[in-house]
Amino acid sequence: MFVEILGARNFEKLDVGLLCIEVKSAFNLEVSFRKAVMDFGATFDANRLQYNSTQILHLLLNSGKIQNDSKAIILTDLDLFVPILTYVFGEAELNGRAAIASSHRLHNEYYGLPKNEPLLQTRTTKEIIHELGHTFGLIHCKDYMCVMHSSTYVEDIDLKKASLCISCKDKLEILDGNRLK
Ligand SMILES: [Zn+2]
Ligand SMILES: [Zn+2]
Repeated sequence: MFVEILGARNFEKLDVGLLCIEVKSAFNLEVSFRKAVMDFGATFDANRLQYNSTQILHLLLNSGKIQNDSKAIILTDLDLFVPILTYVFGEAELNGRAAIASSHRLHNEYYGLPKNEPLLQTRTTKEIIHELGHTFGLIHCKDYMCVMHSSTYVEDIDLKKASLCISCKDKLEILDGNRLK
């Protein structure tokens, strides 16, 4: 099992090497990055001017881009939504193989604040680890410092760490153990 981060659109400001190292340390798995060309046009909602993240997950699952024995997460800068919410930072298949995370609302500039690239890097790392956690079967955690805590606002992301709490780490081990059986 390994994880691939698929860069699709405007990830150049991010240090993808560092991103891979941090994701690797969260899950103790091989993590690599590659650029992926994908056409998201069909997932664009012309009324909301946003992209439907659930449809993007289906696109990814049907794209043949997920290699055997791997999970893939798209890293993009598109503004994402699901129909019941105004926006999402990302989405993942629970206990599945596909996920997406967007830096669109992780930039300080989006909130009229000065550019802060290290902060953008940290927020993106947390969002990627969070969504991948879902693909490993983890659900939202009550511990607000845990990376699996649900984040509505970017401030919630800033409060949490880029790592799993002890309880989520334990759950991950149990889930992993089940998979081996
Ligand atoms: Zn979540
Ligand atoms: Zn937790």
